[in-house]
Amino acid sequence: MEKKFSSLRAFADVGGNTKPCVICGNTATQEAIFTVEGATIIEKYCDSCSKKEIK
Ligand SMILES: [Zn+2]
Repeated sequence: MEKKFSSLRAFADVGGNTKPCVICGNTATQEAIFTVEGATIIEKYCDSCSKKEIK
């Protein structure tokens, strides 16, 4: 299945509920929205991985 990149937005943890970056495991600060066959997938990234992984 092919992921289609939709958009990137800032991710702020709510109530200290931090999420790890899917690439490196550091605290995520960005979330990327992808669509796969009509479904929406959100993946969390830190700043540096979002720059590397998302074009
Ligand atoms: Zn990362």
